[in-house]
Amino acid sequence: MQGNSKSPDGGRRPSSALWAPSPRDRGEAEDIAIIGGGIIGICAAAFLAEAGRNVTVFDRTGICEETSSGNAAAFAFSDVLPMAHKGMIKNLPKWLADPLGPLSIPPAYLPKLLPWLIRFWRAGAPAKYEASLAAQAGMMKLAEAEWMGLLDRSGTKRMLREDGSLEFYESEAEFRASLPGWAARERFGIGFRHVEGESLADLQPGLSPRFIKGTFVPGWKTVADPKLLGKAIWAYAEAKGARFEMARIDRVATDQNGATLTLADGTSRQARQLVVAAGAWSHLLARQLGDRIPLETERGYNTTLPRNAFDVRRQLIFSGHGFVITPLETGLRVGGAVELGGIERPPNFNRSQALLRKAQQFLPGLNPSGGREWMGFRPSLPDSVPVIGKAPASRSVVYAFGHGHLGLTQAAATGRLIRELVLGQTPAVDLAPFSPQRF
Ligand SMILES: Cc1cc2nc3c(=O)[nH]c(=O)nc-3n(C[C@H](O)[C@H](O)[C@H](O)COP(=O)(O)OP(=O)(O)OC[C@H]3O[C@@H](n4cnc5c(N)ncnc54)[C@H](O)[C@@H]3O)c2cc1C
Repeated sequence: MQGNSKSPDGGRRPSSALWAPSPRDRGEAEDIAIIGGGIIGICAAAFLAEAGRNVTVFDRTGICEETSSGNAAAFAFSDVLPMAHKGMIKNLPKWLADPLGPLSIPPAYLPKLLPWLIRFWRAGAPAKYEASLAAQAGMMKLAEAEWMGLLDRSGTKRMLREDGSLEFYESEAEFRASLPGWAARERFGIGFRHVEGESLADLQPGLSPRFIKGTFVPGWKTVADPKLLGKAIWAYAEAKGARFEMARIDRVATDQNGATLTLADGTSRQARQLVVAAGAWSHLLARQLGDRIPLETERGYNTTLPRNAFDVRRQLIFSGHGFVITPLETGLRVGGAVELGGIERPPNFNRSQALLRKAQQFLPGLNPSGGREWMGFRPSLPDSVPVIGKAPASRSVVYAFGHGHLGLTQAAATGRLIRELVLGQTPAVDLAPFSPQRF
């Protein structure tokens, strides 16, 4: 059976002192199976392996090869505002009018999307919005503490960049419209400084004069490259005993002994407990278990330019245009935007090109050549809060998905919460706002 166990790059597992036969090699059920080798699944595996549990991650493409590989690399611990807020909803008509603007909905997808949109709209109601904000703020405190701990334990702290973020405004009106959001962040102890003139130019030289003001958030962090970080966290999890199997899971079912996973090749695996961390595809698996969860995808686009394309000092945020520019160890990443177009539609890279053209206007010296285009699927719930909790239909299944724009940021906290749920411990935060039954 050992031959079945492949490393994430598809190669055979080396015979090393770390290698020990898995429960499957001994003809037993896996202790814990995780579906999804994105950043959420990897962090869950790391925390469970640290706790001494036998854990196997199943993924169809490898470790951190899809949405978790190409994101904007932010540990956005201060990004606590749910997406459905008044400022955002006010901008919708303007954004939707531009087919390559910050937000687009392919008309053919609208009927399928409508129920999600209605829930999104309702999530902006003051009481619901406040509840999501408080849940996110609590989660973010845990997120920061858990990432700092995990980076230390895994020896990956060198991949952390602590140079803050800088957000821009093109008019007094745009700046004033941002103030309630900053006041909300202040309530949760998030530090920031509004800047203009020389202070703005010092924080990012070479910026177009169309931006008259900015906000500097010193506590905002980024990572050297999200894919490299994911692979490094996986190496740590693997050293702690976690295993990987490259496979697409076609079916999941549960009974009193745990879960049965049916792979695309027709074989099956048994596990005592199952964690579903399959990103934007998680609701398809949850549905097989009897749970209907309104997960959609906010598709996002970017282009990664060579590192010397421009001297970007920290992550730059162009909120009014829905994109960011991140200096990575591996290049300069320009992108963002939201396309509510589902999981089947092919990418429309006109969107990444449109963002790149804007970046050239905003940083006039930027060299746009030699870029690599990418699209990813943010797994998004209408209230911007992930699902973290036991499956209503089966106590041997835990859900961990729907982190939207913040999966990298909240992955270590989610890993800890999953460990607590699986081990039957008291979770570090109240999980009621994250419940799969809240819809
Ligand atoms: C443009 C863009 C920028 C972003 N920037 C940031 C940022 O700066 N900071 C931040 O915190 N977040 C950011 N995000 C969001 C973040 O990337 C996601 O929230 C996060 O990657 C989701 O991780 P995940 O593990 O849930 O899902 P994924 O990374 O999608 O992983 C899920 C895995 O499950 C596997 N899978 C699915 N179904 C099956 C199946 N049936 N069988 C086997 N395998 C299966 C898939 O192959 C995939 O590898 C951004 C996203 C985008 C698109």
